[in-house]
Amino acid sequence: MTAPNSTQQNAVRRANLARVVEQIAAHGSRSRAQLAADTGMNKTTVSSLVGELLDLGVVREAGRDERLRAGRPGTRLELGGERIGVLGLEVNVDHLAVHATDLAGRTHHQAFVAADNRDRAPGAVLDDLAELARTTISGLSAEGVAVADVTVALPGLVDDTRGTLLVAPNLGWSECPVATLLRERLGGGAPPVGVGNDANLAAFAELHDGHGRTRGLRDFISVGCPKGLGSGIVVGREVLGGTAGFVGEIGHITVDPGGPVCSCGNRGCLERLAGLDALLERAGIAPYGQSSETPQASLALVASLARQGDPPVLEAIAEMRGWLSLGLASAMNLFHPEAIVFGGYLAPLAGWFLDGLGADLDARVLGGRWRSCELLASELGADAASRGASARSREALLRDPARLRGLGR
Ligand SMILES: [Zn+2]
Repeated sequence: MTAPNSTQQNAVRRANLARVVEQIAAHGSRSRAQLAADTGMNKTTVSSLVGELLDLGVVREAGRDERLRAGRPGTRLELGGERIGVLGLEVNVDHLAVHATDLAGRTHHQAFVAADNRDRAPGAVLDDLAELARTTISGLSAEGVAVADVTVALPGLVDDTRGTLLVAPNLGWSECPVATLLRERLGGGAPPVGVGNDANLAAFAELHDGHGRTRGLRDFISVGCPKGLGSGIVVGREVLGGTAGFVGEIGHITVDPGGPVCSCGNRGCLERLAGLDALLERAGIAPYGQSSETPQASLALVASLARQGDPPVLEAIAEMRGWLSLGLASAMNLFHPEAIVFGGYLAPLAGWFLDGLGADLDARVLGGRWRSCELLASELGADAASRGASARSREALLRDPARLRGLGR
């Protein structure tokens, strides 16, 4: 038997650092002795790992554990990370967004900037995104927080291993190496940049900050983006397919084979018939692109007219509900989640379609008679994707804290 080489030893140590962090995160706080019992590692090894985590700033000592009466009192360790920052960025059709937290999960900065990015060249949009990131990074730096990881939420299919946007029909972009282009713009010493699908990241935010946390949901579908029907599927508290963006394209389920052409090139997709643009068209409201209005302003107008009982708007919402029930019934028959959470443009309109949609789904879904699915409006708001992106970066660092070695602090 040969001795393990230094690469193998380093890999084992990296994994052990993550195991210690995982135990502290799971229990809130832990003594070194408890960590040794939790992980089966000896106390010397645990002390060495804790020493490195203290140096990296990932954990901190939180005082003595008075419950340990026999022998030396144990110093409790808890998650730290107040000086380590993560950035969630978002490029979408009508806006850019940023959400910055520290590793402890405290929000330091968030911004939502309206911008018409349709058919703009990727380089120009990424110039603006880099400016937003730079400003945020230097703001955090002034507070003594060093940004260690960035995730960019994108409205399309992504290859997260290469950091590439494969295709975003609504932006008109394809094969765009977003992570590389953004890092080039951020210059030397820029933190690592990853990418993720916006709807999957919004589902990640819903899981950790929204109904997934407050109601303890384990299996749910999160559906709805600022103007489309991107969705994320959560099974056993994991977002299916990670952030790869190949899962949960409920918006491109065909619900009318002879229907209008969708931005993806197919006909009669759910998003083409039930997205915000279709709703505005049916309600007789000018598309926001033809006026100075943003999608958010158009949506506020729809909600206001619905409150007044405006017949064309109520009819348009009812028709949207009909198409949604067709697409979501298919998703329900596949996954039968305990809840569907409606975000994006659907959240402010939920009061006018949720009850009717619930009855539609109970009738259409095979298991609906025995166990109905809860329909909920998301409370996260328009920054769900950027919030999910920062949460994703945070989780990635906690799962491999050795990535923080060498971070300038
Ligand atoms: Zn489509």
